[in-house]
Amino acid sequence: MSGKICLGIEGTAHTFGVGIVDDSANVLANEWSMYVPEEGGIHPREAANHHTEHAGQIIKQAMENANISRDDISLIAFSQGPGLGPCLRTAATAARALSLSLNVPIVGVNHCIAHLEIGRAVCDCPDPVLLYVSGGNTQVISYANGRYRVFGETLDIGLGNMLDKYGRERGMPFPAGPEIEKLAKHGSTLMELPYSVKGMDVSFSGLLTAALNQPGTLEDISYSIQETAFSMLVEVTERAMAHLGKAQVLLGGGVVRNKRLVEMVEIMCQERGAESFVPPPSLCSDNGAMIAWTGLVMNNAGISMSLEQTNINQKFRTDDVEITWI
Ligand code: AMP
Ligand code: MG
Repeated sequence: MSGKICLGIEGTAHTFGVGIVDDSANVLANEWSMYVPEEGGIHPREAANHHTEHAGQIIKQAMENANISRDDISLIAFSQGPGLGPCLRTAATAARALSLSLNVPIVGVNHCIAHLEIGRAVCDCPDPVLLYVSGGNTQVISYANGRYRVFGETLDIGLGNMLDKYGRERGMPFPAGPEIEKLAKHGSTLMELPYSVKGMDVSFSGLLTAALNQPGTLEDISYSIQETAFSMLVEVTERAMAHLGKAQVLLGGGVVRNKRLVEMVEIMCQERGAESFVPPPSLCSDNGAMIAWTGLVMNNAGISMSLEQTNINQKFRTDDVEITWI
């Protein structure tokens, strides 16, 4: 162990987060502030303004919680993409400033890979299939031949966005995912909604339109949305496991706070003699600790970046990154 401590900054979308971890994956601090739109969906520039306003305070709070001084930090990591341009630029700017002022190296991290790496470390599952379900992303990712590869993904919107859009139309507060979960517990009638799996991929926009046009109680519709969407995810996750011959599923992203989704994945795993893992909620949603940890893993594998290499990448693909640390 090199005794390194990394400060990581997350800022791909609604959350500005700062995490501090050591190289045994101990999370020393994990602070964040989430931008909540007054109405409608996320406005990228307003989210970025929120991040700019809160950056100083969140960084300070994280340092206080970790009980470290500036000199203890040996590395800065930040979310380089994928995400919303203005938000990414705000996080990257804060990271560059810290790297320069502390005179420590800087590493840009792929956000989707960070969800996977933190889960691998804290759940102790070395070779999982990751089911990553967040606001903007829905992907099934796993390691094969030197890369983390996307084996299935949404062809249109992320499941979290779908839930938030449905909820918004029905007057629920943002984010709507937790509200829909509560309502669904009281639903009992399973309505037929579009179940859209194409090979290894899924799509949710047809389900959203149908749900909005579906007569019935909010409880029954919420229940039906969850059962339908989660079944689609379980199907493609299971197919990826069979294809790859892997026996571990790791869950990541804010939507996996949903107990019913976790339960459905557990049942599938039990039936195949496989195991499922869920990191604690604070490490499932977008957070700085996962960025810090992934930056450390990369840096320990010899990766560091010049400032020129820290340009953000809104369309940063999971399989763009060469994985040299496995
Ligand atoms: P992330 O983008 O990973 O931070 O996750 C945010 C998304 O997770 C939002 O779209 C939320 O609606 C969704 N979410 C959070 N909690 C739940 C829940 N209990 N059930 C379903 N979705 C949820
Ligand atoms: Mg995320």
